[in-house]
Amino acid sequence: MFELKKFRKKSPWILHFNAGGCNGCDIEILACLAPKYDIERFGMINTGNPKQSDILLITGPVTKRTRERLVEVYNQMPEPKVVVCCGSCASTGGIFRGMYNIEGGVDQFIPVDVYVAGCACRPEQIIDGVVVALGILEEKTKEIEKTIKLANKPVVEEDGQVNRRNMPAELTYETTV
Ligand code: SF4
Repeated sequence: MFELKKFRKKSPWILHFNAGGCNGCDIEILACLAPKYDIERFGMINTGNPKQSDILLITGPVTKRTRERLVEVYNQMPEPKVVVCCGSCASTGGIFRGMYNIEGGVDQFIPVDVYVAGCACRPEQIIDGVVVALGILEEKTKEIEKTIKLANKPVVEEDGQVNRRNMPAELTYETTV
């Protein structure tokens, strides 16, 4: 049986979401994909499908228009998943905080695992953040497996995904890092 969770750590799929920033941080994320940094050589792919993504990279502050889309995209991602805020806007609202159309930082609406500082954050910082996210992804996978084993249920993998829906209701939990 393929253990796809091993492959996930070696080749995480990333979803990029701009919640309402100035595009400065987005350009830095794209620079990570360009030949100079070329994170695709490590197996990372910037995918457009939340249902196939392991890591959510978010730039910009949350606006009134993007708030619902952000939560919807987050909910569509399978467990385990990691959220990385790129730049000060995504972390706190940044220079846009207090504006009429700004709701605030990402962590007001969905759980955030990694904060990457900077305005704009540099490609090296983004890559560092993704590496930290990979460690968290592995820990979350272990936590889910451990909880299922505690319930004396076999760890059921569906295409390599450990699914929380296989856990008894009393053992469901939210992972905090
Ligand atoms: S942190 Fe700076 S570069 Fe990034 S979206 Fe905000 S204003 Fe733009």
